Amino acid sequence: MEEIKKQLYFISETIEKIKPSNDFLSIEIIFKINPHKELLESLDLEIKKLFEAFKLSKKSIVFEKKFQNSRCEKPISTETLSDLSLIKSLGSGVYAYAGIFQRLINGLDKHLKNIALSLDADEFIFPNLVSTSTLIKSGYLKNFPHQSQPIYDPNCNIESLRSLRQEIKEGVRVSEIESFNQYYKASDFSLSPAVCYHCYEFFENSIFEKDKGKLTTAMQSCYRFEGKSTGGLERLREFKMREFIAMGEPEFVQYFQNKFINIASKLCEDFEINCQLKSASDPFFIDDYNAKRIFQTGFELKLELLTQFKKAPSLAISSINYHQDYFGNSFNLRLHNGKAAHSCCIGFGLDRWCSTIFSTHGVDPMKWPDELRKII
Ligand code: ATP
Ligand code: ZN
Ligand code: MG
Repeated sequence: MEEIKKQLYFISETIEKIKPSNDFLSIEIIFKINPHKELLESLDLEIKKLFEAFKLSKKSIVFEKKFQNSRCEKPISTETLSDLSLIKSLGSGVYAYAGIFQRLINGLDKHLKNIALSLDADEFIFPNLVSTSTLIKSGYLKNFPHQSQPIYDPNCNIESLRSLRQEIKEGVRVSEIESFNQYYKASDFSLSPAVCYHCYEFFENSIFEKDKGKLTTAMQSCYRFEGKSTGGLERLREFKMREFIAMGEPEFVQYFQNKFINIASKLCEDFEINCQLKSASDPFFIDDYNAKRIFQTGFELKLELLTQFKKAPSLAISSINYHQDYFGNSFNLRLHNGKAAHSCCIGFGLDRWCSTIFSTHGVDPMKWPDELRKII
């Protein structure tokens, strides 16, 4: 239901709030202004399509962990973390981290990086900007236009610059500045929504020799427009992600897909996190998402590591995505025999991992499990 709710917000700006009933049999939708007939009809259609897709894409559980003493009822609130001066909100879905929060983010990332290096991964530093043509090549812009964050370049036009300068006053919101749209135009770059697109771009037109697949790793800030679902540390506009990416022959990539599952399992054991690893599907939204969703869940191409809360919806802290030869074809990553390379990645949403750890064990490391305390 959370997933359906998240997607419905993107249908129209006039939707103020979506409230599913407790029995999940109906949804109440509150509008900012009276909705017109066409909007109601299209909403009705989208809701039916989404329900159908979710009904058909049966999810299966790969593993489940439950720890007896866990007092994890719901995600720790941003108010609590702010009161402790561990985070500061810098706008909707954007936070600065301090104290034990930044220590945990850094410690966790270092721990993950060391795991990747112990598997012989090559480490990369990627920019937070990604060429929008790479997002087109990867299919991202087509599949997730509603989450994309293109950036703007100034227009070389002195007249619109002059009027823009006049309108810039302290306290004014950019959305209220009329000449803003005249002065800035879409650039060739976007803020990167994930890490692995950079990796396929880096290896574009490469040939992987026989038995020589590649494992890579990188961490960067990622950006997604989450609309009205933005909130807490659970759904950010800017978040940090460490990815491990395997590319090469199908056997090599499947070996790492399994390794990634084991890594996720060991981390949850070590850190005593209640969770499930479950087949899932991406929020394909605009067209033909039914088919893609059913394909993804049916073949277990996307697995989500979900933290289980007693009194809140579960939350994905990582996902393992097996893309088969999709990116091999898109980025011309070839095997020695001319076939397209396969790829698989695991993404760790560091902000969600940290918030889950604080929700589960509190903010005092002295009360944490030993394996967790060791990483900070
Ligand atoms: P969700 O279903 O929660 O939207 P997703 O399927 O979009 O997640 P992925 O694309 O699989 O997420 O990204 C990998 C990981 O990045 C997620 O498991 C999560 O930990 C993190 N992540 C994704 N979106 C956000 C966000 N808006 N805020 C914080 N972390 C996020
Ligand atoms: Zn990825
Ligand atoms: Mg998402």
